[in-house]
Amino acid sequence: MSNISISDALTQITPRFSGQLLQPTDAGYEDARRVHNGLIDKRPFLIARCQNVADVVDAVNLAREHGIEVAVRGGGHNVAGRATLDGGIMVDLSLMKGIHVDPRAHTARAQGGVTWGEYNRETQVHGLASTGGVISTTGIAGLTLGGGLGWLLGKHGLAIDNLRSAQLVTAEGQVVTASNDEEPALFWAIRGGGGNFGVATSLEYTVHPVGPMISGGLIAHPFARARDALRFFRDTTMSLPDDLTVFAGLIHAPDGSNVKLAALLACHCGTADGEATLKPIKSFGSPVIDALGPMKQHIQTVI
Ligand SMILES: Cc1cc2nc3c(=O)[nH]c(=O)nc-3n(C[C@H](O)[C@H](O)[C@H](O)COP(=O)(O)OP(=O)(O)OC[C@H]3O[C@@H](n4cnc5c(N)ncnc54)[C@H](O)[C@@H]3O)c2cc1C
Repeated sequence: MSNISISDALTQITPRFSGQLLQPTDAGYEDARRVHNGLIDKRPFLIARCQNVADVVDAVNLAREHGIEVAVRGGGHNVAGRATLDGGIMVDLSLMKGIHVDPRAHTARAQGGVTWGEYNRETQVHGLASTGGVISTTGIAGLTLGGGLGWLLGKHGLAIDNLRSAQLVTAEGQVVTASNDEEPALFWAIRGGGGNFGVATSLEYTVHPVGPMISGGLIAHPFARARDALRFFRDTTMSLPDDLTVFAGLIHAPDGSNVKLAALLACHCGTADGEATLKPIKSFGSPVIDALGPMKQHIQTVI
């Protein structure tokens, strides 16, 4: 533990901190403490809005040296509000938006505050993509560290199957790279183990040729036919080609009418004829919504 007070330590760090250090009375604190789930109402002692790796190291060291709890905010999408906490330091990466795609090496490296919408937009400039979340505003970091299901799952696996390496700031304030070659045990842990092994300041993925046009979208049946729709989903998905990923869900109609529906959501990302592959799904029953068809791979889906 440090023998200087937390306020003296903050005074020392502030001039060199590239991002923002926000305390409850500072302008911007109320906005910065919000996460996706509006029911989460926590008040960190300090929000360290980091701009670079050095800021993250300073924030982590400050917390450790003063025995203060930390929560890391990537995209802030976790429903339980794990990105924030009462009384501790929120290490907020949402200003860290760097993305670099290397189309020759088929890799992309993105910083810990990037969302899937931002990542897809950049990788699609090169006609490339990795498995990410189905909703564009979800953070790449929290989703990947938890495993990561997405539209390209059938063909390219989970987000962690696409992860090549991650740069992390450990609880000791050390900057390490975890990959199959460096810190392999740590690399194993972060692929599904969640956010407790360090702050992931950047993540490097394999990118695959996808799009720019894919075939997919939503098709929905009346709630009264949900049993048939889910049985059809079970039977059909037993033998799908890897190019086609289909999810099923009981949803409310997207028009805000609150009508309950049984929906199938599909994405065909292969080179074969996507329309033909989707035909059995389009031909089933009497859908009340059929929005299955050609679309751009990079389409924003927001909840
Ligand atoms: C609308 C919605 C749609 C979703 N869709 C999908 C989906 O399609 N596929 C899927 O697999 N999951 C999905 N999820 C779940 C989502 O993957 C998790 O909630 C994930 O944790 C969100 O990541 P985030 O960075 O936005 O979250 P945050 O709330 O910022 O963080 C979540 C957890 O990860 C930790 N964390 C975040 N960033 C870092 C970092 N850089 N370093 C270390 N730890 C970090 C946090 O400390 C926290 O414990 C969805 C959730 C919502 C609310």
